[in-house]
Amino acid sequence: MTERSSAVCLDGLTKRYGTRVAVDALTVDIPGGVVAGFIGPNGAGKTTTMAMLLGLVRPSAGTATVLGEPIDRPDRYLGRVGALVEGPALWPALTGVENLRVLARLGRHDAGRIPAVLELVGLADRQGDRFAEYSLGMKQRLGIAAALLGDPALLVLDEPTNGLDPVGMTEMRELIGRIAAEGRTVLVSSHLLSELEQVADWLLIIDGGRLVYADHASRFAQRTSPQIVLGAVGHGELLRLARLVTEHGFEVGRQDGQLVVTAHGADPGSTAASLNQAAASAGIVLSELHVLRPTLESSYLNLLQGADR
Ligand code: ATP
Repeated sequence: MTERSSAVCLDGLTKRYGTRVAVDALTVDIPGGVVAGFIGPNGAGKTTTMAMLLGLVRPSAGTATVLGEPIDRPDRYLGRVGALVEGPALWPALTGVENLRVLARLGRHDAGRIPAVLELVGLADRQGDRFAEYSLGMKQRLGIAAALLGDPALLVLDEPTNGLDPVGMTEMRELIGRIAAEGRTVLVSSHLLSELEQVADWLLIIDGGRLVYADHASRFAQRTSPQIVLGAVGHGELLRLARLVTEHGFEVGRQDGQLVVTAHGADPGSTAASLNQAAASAGIVLSELHVLRPTLESSYLNLLQGADR
């Protein structure tokens, strides 16, 4: 699969439960070879979408393809897809490696891959311990090892960091990065963008079942303008500064006793420099001057609050 061909294509994909629309006419192409972060608040429809892609839930309307095959024929593509949805269901009394041996036999996968997948998920030295004794992070990673047994082109992970502590989350992020480096497409969901921003190079964001963003992660933060934060000592000076900024044609707001100037389209560094110069010429001493560049998280919150739609 090349970078340009799509791993997953949704075309008006919809799921209704009675009158509730869980997934609302999603139309998206997810390119092959990316880590696609599937983001949305609780109840946005991420699990339902993934379940439809895996042939577990039947769509109410619309269509989709996975690895070029229609989702009403999961038999044609599931052999090339690995998935971890709702936590791994493994045998607690068996060791890590025994679990993988059983799954390899059941799934008719090459058992010769077991040492490599254990190494990849960082469990090679704990493979002899019983699953029941694993930490939550280790259980999740063994679940991913199981999903990788079939050497999948696409890996679907539903909230793999759910319930993990910061160390577990970091290990999961690093693991996803290693899996992507092997050339696999990864679709990974979370309700927290901050969890995925370091690993996802492509973002699919939904809210209330509807698409709100689908494109490269690098383009996402660029949708929000940088801001320049200015401060002056004393209320009177701050008012003078606000008037000065307005006279220079900028939109100005107030936040936590400071002025916030939005640099729509303008270079934020040059804007900050010219405001600094103007303040100095007017005899106003700045107590604060910095540029606030948008993060993925701030852009995401703007988007969900409707500021950016
Ligand atoms: P979370 O981040 O909380 O896991 P999600 O984005 O995965 O949320 P879904 O689990 O897909 O969201 O749920 C989307 C909507 O569909 C929710 O309103 C949910 O209550 C509803 N829903 C999901 N499954 C069913 C079902 N089997 N029957 C009825 N409603 C359902």
